[in-house]
Amino acid sequence: MKFAKTVLAAMAALSLPVLFSGCVSKQQESPRFHRVFCWGTPGNEEVARKYAQIGVTDIRVGSKKTYELAVKYGMTPYCGVFTPAGPYTQVMTEEEKKYHDYISGQDLPKKLSRAERTRITDKRCIEKGFLFGGETEKGVMNVMAHKIACFNSDENYSLSKKKLDRILDSAVPGVKGIYFDGISYMNQRGCFCAKCLADCKKFLAEKKLPDTQENRDLFYREALVKYYNAMIDYVKSKRPDFKVMAHLWPVFRPDPLFGNRTKTDYCGQTVAWYFPWPLDKVSRYTDFVLKHAKDHYANAEGIPFVGLNAAKGQALSHKTPEQLEKELQTVLAAGGRTLMVCNGHDMIKPGYFEVFRKYCTKEK
Ligand SMILES: [Zn+2]
Repeated sequence: MKFAKTVLAAMAALSLPVLFSGCVSKQQESPRFHRVFCWGTPGNEEVARKYAQIGVTDIRVGSKKTYELAVKYGMTPYCGVFTPAGPYTQVMTEEEKKYHDYISGQDLPKKLSRAERTRITDKRCIEKGFLFGGETEKGVMNVMAHKIACFNSDENYSLSKKKLDRILDSAVPGVKGIYFDGISYMNQRGCFCAKCLADCKKFLAEKKLPDTQENRDLFYREALVKYYNAMIDYVKSKRPDFKVMAHLWPVFRPDPLFGNRTKTDYCGQTVAWYFPWPLDKVSRYTDFVLKHAKDHYANAEGIPFVGLNAAKGQALSHKTPEQLEKELQTVLAAGGRTLMVCNGHDMIKPGYFEVFRKYCTKEK
């Protein structure tokens, strides 16, 4: 009897921790990202395998070879990237244009080598505090170094539709969607060409709004949203099965998280820029992106975007694996379970690879 009791006690002692540890491990299982959109491309077998190992699920492909690698490693392939078209470059103030010309090295001799040009323009970007299209403090100028066409002056968006035709017609058969990028304003607030100014005036008159900066911001936001949605409608008219993925960039400063107003299926909104933001901002932005994703369109998903540059000594800020890890933890704590990252190729570099592997669902 005593023996039986001892055996029973021993069995209980053995099974309880087993049951208990089962509960604990379930409770303590840390949340992970189950869908990861990458701005890289699976250029070869090793790169494709590494992307799959860190949980990348959605990626851009530009050839049959990269398409096949994406499929082989279980990633959803997209074509693109679509950027705005228009009859001319956006018009800015004289001061903004000067800034653009300076940081993009318009005055530098054409015969300068690429490396030398980059060395000089990098120095100028640092000197001016250029943030590469990320959010700046109010009133701080941050004009893009690259040119963006005035999409609003594109009559019936005919040039943009032709550009989309070219991308869709040359897409590798089998891709599931398209990447959008760079749809915004060079000066992060608006274009001041005759067409945009006239349209803005008309907008204010129709809505009976006084001509204030806040109301002009409303026009420029509406012009952006209208363009996004017209381009998405056009893609779907030609390819109803396609999904549209976008990163909203450069930032539209008057309303950085306006993306939920667009019909973008997977709308990447910046919650952590390349230049590290305070973690409470990362958390606040993630919360907004997720909570308000479906305010306007039921199909829209808000995807937290994280900027990453592993290279040191460039004008674009270097991010350490430690900072990246803190940001991913913050996004997860704020409820994010999907993620979008650029630069894609930096995700698989030593140190960063391990961080993504820790927080993203691994290859099955
Ligand atoms: Zn314009």
